[in-house]
Amino acid sequence: MAIQQTLSIIKPDATRRNLTGQINAKLEEAGLKIIAQKRLLITKELAKEFYAVHAERSFYDDLCTNMTLGPIVVQVLEGEDAIQTNREIMGATNPSNAFPGTIRYEFGESIDFNSVHGSDSPANAVQEIAFFFSKIELCR
Ligand code: GDP
Repeated sequence: MAIQQTLSIIKPDATRRNLTGQINAKLEEAGLKIIAQKRLLITKELAKEFYAVHAERSFYDDLCTNMTLGPIVVQVLEGEDAIQTNREIMGATNPSNAFPGTIRYEFGESIDFNSVHGSDSPANAVQEIAFFFSKIELCR
């Protein structure tokens, strides 16, 4: 295992319910260090660019709209095997399939409102971190 960085997003359904602190606590308890974090309101155009990989999917338009319904918190997490560690603490995409103790099990409302995003591969992590952060914003 190696020290990795990954991009995490706390989605609007979670910021609306004031869950940022509780989600951050779960990330930290999982051994991840939040080395950058900012709260943003993004446009639908930016959401479409971020989720371009899903452009052909039926849920793409709703997904991009949902990311604009309120503030998001974008963050860079660092730790041992951070990409997989974060995916595990996030839980399954559909909260109905998520294991107890995971963020999506505890806080996700539905597959459309599942509270968090996390990079799913090293290449995507690099790309997604650079989408929202410059190097000088990462404070280790
Ligand atoms: P994630 O990495 O677990 O977030 O899942 P994906 O990258 O595959 O999908 C991005 C987001 O699109 C998910 O977090 C869901 O909010 C949404 N999504 C994915 N698959 C579906 C689906 O089959 N139906 C709907 N309505 N939304 C989906």
